[in-house]
Amino acid sequence: MTTSERRAADLPHLWLPYSQMQTTPWPATAIRTSGSTIFLDNGQELVDGIASWWTACHGYNHPHLRAALMAQCEVMPHVMFGGMVHEPAKRLASRLASLLPGDLERVFFTDSGSVAMEVAVKMAIQFQLNNKRSARTKVLSFRGGYHGDTLGMMSICDPEEGMHNLFSGALPQQIIADLPVDTASTEALERVLQEREHEIAAIVTEPLVQGAGGMLFHAPSVLKTLRTLCDRFNILLILDEVFTGFGRTGTMFACEQAQIVPDIVALSKALTGGTMALAATVARQTVFSAFLSDDPGKALMHGPTFMANPLACAVANASLDVFEQEPRLEQVSRIEAQLKNELAPCASLPNVRDVRVLGAIGVVELENMPNPEHLKQAFLKLGVWIRPFRNIVYLTPAFTVTPRELSQLTSAIYTVLKHAS
Ligand SMILES: *Cc1c(COP(=O)(O)O)cnc(C)c1O
Repeated sequence: MTTSERRAADLPHLWLPYSQMQTTPWPATAIRTSGSTIFLDNGQELVDGIASWWTACHGYNHPHLRAALMAQCEVMPHVMFGGMVHEPAKRLASRLASLLPGDLERVFFTDSGSVAMEVAVKMAIQFQLNNKRSARTKVLSFRGGYHGDTLGMMSICDPEEGMHNLFSGALPQQIIADLPVDTASTEALERVLQEREHEIAAIVTEPLVQGAGGMLFHAPSVLKTLRTLCDRFNILLILDEVFTGFGRTGTMFACEQAQIVPDIVALSKALTGGTMALAATVARQTVFSAFLSDDPGKALMHGPTFMANPLACAVANASLDVFEQEPRLEQVSRIEAQLKNELAPCASLPNVRDVRVLGAIGVVELENMPNPEHLKQAFLKLGVWIRPFRNIVYLTPAFTVTPRELSQLTSAIYTVLKHAS
């Protein structure tokens, strides 16, 4: 059988993400995970360089997380959240409120990052409506941004680089600007706000790192600028910490490094330590207050069926326990130092444009991406799970990755890029 016949026989019914199903290589089949290792059905063991799309911050199968899931499963795997609440959700909401800076105190649970961001945008538009600013229905977002794949979020992702330009005719028109990283871009943003403030409900950005847009970094001062501009123009600041939240950039939340408090923040990827689908949209008290009224029409009309699933809330609480009990942020700073050290030699390879590291994120940006499938296969041969995309090869390992495993990952990158050039 040819590879494509084998693929057809093995996968008659699955439709894979971000894949041209006619040509996509036959995917590996995972059968077990442990620590930073993924075990495949063909006997191969892979050191995981991306922690399952940046979720598995404690490594796989952490005993405390597993025990919390099992215990909750015995008692109540799920119950509806309409007109009824439960202890795991109450506990998680209050712990998130105390971890987050300022008066970010009201937590609305959903089950994915995209939907957490949809809710954030709905909150912002309705906040303006409830304050009699009904023309403020648009969102200003930034080039290089990624906020999810739903129709609403596609409209605020990077319009060209994004995966969504096919759909542009079907999406609401938003305002896309350049991040205010220098005087010229700051003045340009100010001009847009001066002209269009009456249309804008919120400014949205990923703080410090635009992840899926290509792991693009910006300085904390950019977030300070955004906070100042939002205050000046009565615009809400929404930070999408779906990727950066829970230690990835070196602090529990990226916004801490800018010492600012957003009006609304979205959390998801590492919220349950990479075990269950859960997300949270957290609003400041000032935002929440605008929804309090005798008028039922001023309430937030949203409610996913599996909102605040007890299994997911219980394991998210367990993940926060582990952040308290184990030295995660110190591990992140050790990973940062090792990544800086060990990725530095890549900078002298011919096709490399930039090497950058922040927290537990290491990025090698290329001038031109060679065939990414060839790179993926070369990484597999070296026993590492690394997924190049756009023009970057990156690492976002579990914070529990050992120095030896991390060296295996960084040396695989050097070796593969050297051969490719
Ligand atoms: C992954 C991601 C999302 C979307 O989350 P899903 O759970 O895939 O819907 C949104 N924003 C950012 C910054 C992300 O990294």
